[in-house]
Amino acid sequence: MCAAKTMFDKIWDTHVVCEREGGEQLLYVDYNVVSEGPFYAFNALRQEGRRVRYPGKTLAMADHYAPTTGRSLGVKGVADPEARVMIEQLEENTKWAGISRHYGLMHPQQGIMHVVPAELGMPQPGMVIAGADSHTSTNGAFGACGFGVGASQVKHILATQTIWLRKPKAMRVAVDGALGRGVSAKDVILAIIAEIGIGGGAGHAIEYAGAAIRSLSMEGRMTLCNMSIEAGARVGMVVPDERTFEYLRGRELAPKGADWDRAVRFWRTVATDKGAEFSREVRLEGSAIEPMVTWGTCQDEAVPVTGRVPDPAAFSDPARRHRAESALAYMGIAPGTPIRDIKVDRVFIGSCTNSRLEDLREAAAVARGRKAAVPAMIVPGSMTVKRAAEQEGLHEVFLGAGFEWREPGCSMCTGSNGDRVPYGERCASTSNRNFEGRQGKGSRTHLVSPAMAAAAAVTGRLADVRDFI
Ligand code: SF4
Repeated sequence: MCAAKTMFDKIWDTHVVCEREGGEQLLYVDYNVVSEGPFYAFNALRQEGRRVRYPGKTLAMADHYAPTTGRSLGVKGVADPEARVMIEQLEENTKWAGISRHYGLMHPQQGIMHVVPAELGMPQPGMVIAGADSHTSTNGAFGACGFGVGASQVKHILATQTIWLRKPKAMRVAVDGALGRGVSAKDVILAIIAEIGIGGGAGHAIEYAGAAIRSLSMEGRMTLCNMSIEAGARVGMVVPDERTFEYLRGRELAPKGADWDRAVRFWRTVATDKGAEFSREVRLEGSAIEPMVTWGTCQDEAVPVTGRVPDPAAFSDPARRHRAESALAYMGIAPGTPIRDIKVDRVFIGSCTNSRLEDLREAAAVARGRKAAVPAMIVPGSMTVKRAAEQEGLHEVFLGAGFEWREPGCSMCTGSNGDRVPYGERCASTSNRNFEGRQGKGSRTHLVSPAMAAAAAVTGRLADVRDFI
């Protein structure tokens, strides 16, 4: 009788090509995703006289450097010369490599590299997906292993459609029960990271389980898996179910006809076997999770919105205490400050964590009929999201409330395109990183859900979304 296996073990084991001394294994990669960043990988291939092995298995997105305004003149009209060059290089490289799935700046499906693939039906249960960005873990929402890879690995994947990796251990995080009113997937993942710490998932592939996780939409599961990286994990995954299959049905890259039936039969076998062992198990109670806010410069420095900024002296671990002291000095907030007393200077709703249609609907439900008290910017994750939101009239809700309605891209998540939080300003943001300077030099970031961000926009402070819905 075969031993019970975790979903991660099953997927990993079916992708192993061979093993080398030292324990690394060569994995077949089903799909690879790049954005403007890894131009060096294409350059290196050219210099070595090599080709891209399977151009049809790579998707390319213009996102990090995509301007979110003024696109009428196309790529030539991109005002920032560095951004223009990066976008042009991606165009040239994909053309050279024969990568036809290039979602360039003016493509009707352009968007963020962790938003567009799901819209296309690319991530499917049982796949190994690599991407030149750590948040490739987002694809785990579909029961796939999504690995973010570095510079030399991108080149290796382009050349061979394989990657050398050391196998992480499997870890399970279960969130039981039901989530309360106003609590979203973003709050769940911030609560998980606050519980296990930014290194809590290190060396592991996390499988999320429990009733609260199963109740999440596919968009919510993507938010959850997206931020697994912020807990130090290599991968975050949710077992595929009927909701997964329904999401994929009919999408461009999903199997069709008899292939669809065959695929669904296989997808049902991907789930973790009963009795399979994980190297670590963590349990949280969903009903105990409140809307969350980060107060520091790491994602585990988060508390419920009803709480207070902690006193570093309360941390028994000296390293943690020192980290909290530095974070508070950078953030310019005093220990003990009630979270709801913290004023913000601006709001960003976007990024690969929270820029999907459901996110925009949740933000719009709060913004509807209210007025922004501080500058607030909505950046949809893709053209597809933007069009769908406009069909529902969400843009009118936002514009009516005084929010900006922008073109898709990474935008203020990291500011590569010039959308930055000015020095010293405090931003309530739906992105995934609150590191020093992440949204611009001297920027201060508080990570929140889309609805919480909208509540911050209409009040000018960190507010409890439950007072608005
Ligand atoms: S939105 Fe932010 S985290 Fe996501 S791919 Fe873009 S820069 Fe990276």
